[in-house]
Amino acid sequence: MSSGVEQASGQLPNQGEAQATASAPAAPANLMGMSPTQMRDWFASIDEKPFRATQLLKWIHQHGVDDFDQMTNLAKSLRSKLQDLAEIRPPVVVEEKLSSDGTRKWLIRVTGGSCVETVFIPEGERGTLCVSSQVGCSLDCSFCSTGKQGFNRDLTSAEIIGQLWIAAKSFDSLGSGKRRAISNVVMMGMGEPLMNFDNVVAAMQLMMDDNCYGLSKRRVTLSTAGVVPQMDRLADHVDVSLAISLHAANDELRNQLVPINRKYPIAELLRASRDYLARMPDQRRKLTVEYTLIDQVNDSLEDAAQLARLMVDIPCKINLIPFNPFPLSDYRRPSNNRIRAFQHYLMDKGYTATVRTTRGEDIDAACGQLAGAVNDLTRRSQRHRNKAESRIAATEVGN
Ligand code: SF4
Repeated sequence: MSSGVEQASGQLPNQGEAQATASAPAAPANLMGMSPTQMRDWFASIDEKPFRATQLLKWIHQHGVDDFDQMTNLAKSLRSKLQDLAEIRPPVVVEEKLSSDGTRKWLIRVTGGSCVETVFIPEGERGTLCVSSQVGCSLDCSFCSTGKQGFNRDLTSAEIIGQLWIAAKSFDSLGSGKRRAISNVVMMGMGEPLMNFDNVVAAMQLMMDDNCYGLSKRRVTLSTAGVVPQMDRLADHVDVSLAISLHAANDELRNQLVPINRKYPIAELLRASRDYLARMPDQRRKLTVEYTLIDQVNDSLEDAAQLARLMVDIPCKINLIPFNPFPLSDYRRPSNNRIRAFQHYLMDKGYTATVRTTRGEDIDAACGQLAGAVNDLTRRSQRHRNKAESRIAATEVGN
């Protein structure tokens, strides 16, 4: 196979889909998204030794190779067997955009024709890749462009890890002796990662495996809006950094901004966060609290005081994200004075509070702006458009 850029669409099987059925020939197994354990099990299922799994993982994820014929340490007979039974299929790059500040954004088509977005943000020695986990999002946070696109489906593990593979190849940073361009991965792109638990876990295992990308667990972060039952399961599967999308310090406001709060209110979210931290082998780990500052909605000093009281017994750093406007949203970004006042209030209370610099605005890659091209199965995008149009029409009549 050639690189992901030219791959045509087609049926992309999950590992489970690779099983034969009685009437149809087995679809080739896509090795791209198999976790190390899944890869070993798959090689055992075709009567091959487990060390073959390690060889394949290295070829795919360390060397960026997706053509069995280039895997020179495999016998010809095994390569031919793999050609018959398997494939290495990343998703397809439709477009790559470069911002004036060095931020890059890829528009990536997945099976079914929808597109997701992946963003790379360089900051000095650090390079952070923001990875998507779903086509659209099934939650509907009121300040988020992705949420307004509706929802199509979960990404497969191949489509999730494929975003890192594509980005690393685009920087020519796969292969022996190459400089690593991507030092951090955040699961903060389109979608709620914990609504796609198994595929996200498999992809994060590949990110951290020494035979693959070898990222340290401190440098892989999963961000959740608060799917509490899955937060409770997470530590059984991976040891990654945790971020919560809080955005409000009381339930009444959070119910409006982050609707999943009606199901799992703040007290439960913080209980699950505390439990997750308590189960980490490294007890110095801190929770990251993401708080989007929206003008006159959640950015007053009273909001800051509530937030300070709320987080008092949880080791955390607070990341303030000035709202990034997107079409049809009626929220506004606060003034710099209001942002600074909020930040300084928290710092005076002893918190580490940073303001996220807006990056990639000229290519719509800033936080909360990712939209992709979602074939919306929920009709939510149409409802949002209708609502926004009525709002605009009402304003025009009022004028
Ligand atoms: S903020 Fe996250 S969880 Fe909420 S709608 Fe956007 S992508 Fe989904």
